Amino acid sequence: MGVVHYDVIVCGAGPAGATAAMTAAQAGLRVALFEKYPLPRHKTCGGGTPMVLQRWLYHLAPEAFVEGEVSQIRHTWKFGDAHLGHINPPGCDRPLTLWMMQRSVFDQALAQATAAAGATVCDGVVVQSLERLGDRLRITARPLKSRQPFVATADYVIGADGANGITAAAANLRRYRRVALAMEIEYPFEAGTTALEWGPETAHLEYGAVPQGYAWVFPKKDHLNIGAGVFCLRRQPVLGDRTIVAQLRRAIIGYLEAWQLPYQLDQIQFHAHPLPIWAGAEPLHTPEGRILLVGDAAGLINPFFGDGILHAVKSGVIAAQCLIQGNPTAYSDRIHQEVATHFDAALSLAKFFYQYPHLAFKIGVKHPKGTRIATQLLAGELGFEAIRAKTLRKLRSALIGSWLQGN
Ligand SMILES: Cc1cc2nc3c(=O)[nH]c(=O)nc-3n(C[C@H](O)[C@H](O)[C@H](O)COP(=O)(O)OP(=O)(O)OC[C@H]3O[C@@H](n4cnc5c(N)ncnc54)[C@H](O)[C@@H]3O)c2cc1C
Repeated sequence: MGVVHYDVIVCGAGPAGATAAMTAAQAGLRVALFEKYPLPRHKTCGGGTPMVLQRWLYHLAPEAFVEGEVSQIRHTWKFGDAHLGHINPPGCDRPLTLWMMQRSVFDQALAQATAAAGATVCDGVVVQSLERLGDRLRITARPLKSRQPFVATADYVIGADGANGITAAAANLRRYRRVALAMEIEYPFEAGTTALEWGPETAHLEYGAVPQGYAWVFPKKDHLNIGAGVFCLRRQPVLGDRTIVAQLRRAIIGYLEAWQLPYQLDQIQFHAHPLPIWAGAEPLHTPEGRILLVGDAAGLINPFFGDGILHAVKSGVIAAQCLIQGNPTAYSDRIHQEVATHFDAALSLAKFFYQYPHLAFKIGVKHPKGTRIATQLLAGELGFEAIRAKTLRKLRSALIGSWLQGN
């Protein structure tokens, strides 16, 4: 069989890759989307996202993947001192919600929509290498079920292969990347079958159990997604950091114990995955614009919340638009215009927040408008740059006050 040539090959069918492939295919480009695992597959993720995501998903209806809508967050410090924060407190102008989804369902729905848009979707196919071949790019890939690799060529490659992918290194981009780490479990659970008082409209965030991070419980249809993340940046390999891994496991178990949910440690499947958090603007495409990185492969995780789904989807759409418009070298600038100011401000706020989490809990999280503001920040409706100076001023003066009291 001859080598098949595409306009665009997209590596990785997470939210970034699928939306990139869908956008390009809808515009009539010849697109292939290669995904390592057969779909549907488990993806290590909390699966919580602001509903503004819908704006970037074309015709994919929320009913295809949204399992629940969260309207309030129960915040705790060391599993106590609970504060119930409403996303839509009285007097707010427009209702907002956080969507709860399972990534296995969402990613498969996206891949199906991508195939329907005309892309060739190949799951269970590992991209092994990416090389330049004159003015083309050559991908060598291998189906999981076969030993026989095959070759495909393209004018452009979109690297959407996540935190552990190969495209960033092959493109000689993101050489100094830094990552954080998050972990989750799926605890089987049906609302109403236990004494737990909180329903599916409540998500839970815990700030005192993990140094430099937070833990969460996100309610799903048939389970609770219980997880924790540490947001201090490390050089790879972060998965081998036993101290962090132990902290994250302890925080997750902390929830089970605080809620008196029965468990057998050896039966729990902990899933951990690096979080390639934004650490500042850097080139996200090769100089000639043939290879573009999107989503986690581009390090587009918000350094304050650790969320990445919305930014993955946005970057996928923007990358494809740059190709459609024949202007691939505009890509990094477009991404930087979209997120750099917001994420840079989020990074400086995160440094303070996670260094003094108890103070931040008391002053920021428990503020009557705290949950609403956090949701607006998450949705990009409010910029971190708009609140950074005032918030840092407040936190610093509270810090000085508590030092003075201590002395
Ligand atoms: C524990 C945890 C919880 C999180 N919770 C949230 C949350 O609640 N909300 C939120 O917004 N974000 C969350 N995130 C972050 C979010 O999961 C990522 O930002 C998001 O998945 C990025 O999407 P992506 O498409 O860029 O990459 P991914 O979703 O990682 O997709 C990359 C795809 O590429 C495939 N791939 C990799 N290598 C190859 C290869 N060689 N060949 C072919 N395919 C390949 C992978 O199999 C994968 O399907 C969480 C992350 C973690 C670790």
